[in-house]
Amino acid sequence: MSESFNRVSQSIDKYHKEVVELQRLLTSIPALAPESDGEGELKKAEALKNYLARAGFPAPEELNAPDKRVPSGIRPNLVYKIDGEDGSKTVWIMSHTDVVPPGDLNKWKGDPYTLRVDGDRIYGRGVEDNQHGLVASVFAVKGLIDLKIKPKFNIGLLFVADEEVGSRFGIGYILEKHNMFKKDDLIIVPDSGRPDGKPIEIAEKSIIWLKVETTGKQCHASRPDQGTNAFAAASKLAAKIHALYNIYDYRDQLFDPPYSSFEPTKKEANVPNVNTIPGDDVFYVDCRVLPKYKLADIEALLRKWADEIEASENVKIKISPVQRAEAAPPTAANAPVVEALKRAIRSVYKVEAFVEGIGGGTVAALFRRKGYAAAVWSRIHETAHQPNEFTDIPFIIGDAKVFAHVFLGA
Ligand SMILES: [Zn+2]
Repeated sequence: MSESFNRVSQSIDKYHKEVVELQRLLTSIPALAPESDGEGELKKAEALKNYLARAGFPAPEELNAPDKRVPSGIRPNLVYKIDGEDGSKTVWIMSHTDVVPPGDLNKWKGDPYTLRVDGDRIYGRGVEDNQHGLVASVFAVKGLIDLKIKPKFNIGLLFVADEEVGSRFGIGYILEKHNMFKKDDLIIVPDSGRPDGKPIEIAEKSIIWLKVETTGKQCHASRPDQGTNAFAAASKLAAKIHALYNIYDYRDQLFDPPYSSFEPTKKEANVPNVNTIPGDDVFYVDCRVLPKYKLADIEALLRKWADEIEASENVKIKISPVQRAEAAPPTAANAPVVEALKRAIRSVYKVEAFVEGIGGGTVAALFRRKGYAAAVWSRIHETAHQPNEFTDIPFIIGDAKVFAHVFLGA
């Protein structure tokens, strides 16, 4: 076993040039969602499919989600399957082909869709999110194909659409219409990570964003008797938000930070001049809540506080969720996918990985809600969505070896 891993590992070391070329190809084709005025992922998925055909991969299964908003009418999802010695379970690696827009082009040194290579570092929109994991999974499998080595279990590579805007046409569509996962499968989502390659994400907090709209009565600031100051009333509620830290104060060291957080954040502009008492006020609250607590309880408490302020300040307060996601059940800290990743990371990077929970919102939650054990891991610098997004070729090569290690069931 470790004999074949050593051979595959040496073979993966030789893919440096191919890694750059595949990254260059994928970066050159913007795959933006219709929400970002894009045409979707079809051209990029086609290019990837052609590349993989030339690289010796079998033909994929194509699970295209219909979407009338893009010119092609489809959002492409590609599934590549490789048979293992033991077909009872599958090791899945899921990555996404879509990217987020580059943002302010002045902040980019060069064109975001033209790969820039600087030593071992490559720059461009998508090179990290999610081409890092995508390309690593490709060369992990190519390492086996080139040496004609059979994996221990089946391998499934998923290249999905629509991750950045909610996964409705990507993994959400597959789980709903073409569910091919089994409870014993190992599911790896290489879409988050740290430069030391240590944390394996297995849990997330619940997340809720609230919009708080307060209505009073506008008037001249010299005649407060004729109006009701919505800003002053709303501030009383905003100032109470931090009290939630003391009420929902449970700590769970799996998470960083280990507590729930409750923060007033965005504030909409009100009146443009100093001498008007504002009749309307809008602010927002971002809460990241440990899975132990129910979002409904927190919402009910905020409502109670709002009712009290309505009565004492003579205003109306409307609280509505902008985003609301109850945490998925965590993947077990000793799940086979976690143990396999830990062994692989130890073998390749010589570090001890550990499990952790994050502040909410990973695509792995879609698997977890359906009862599948999914782990999120990669070794990256966390430059996703930034201008001059970058990643390091040795990390892609290393991550490919980690995946190969898992495939071989070391
Ligand atoms: Zn991503």
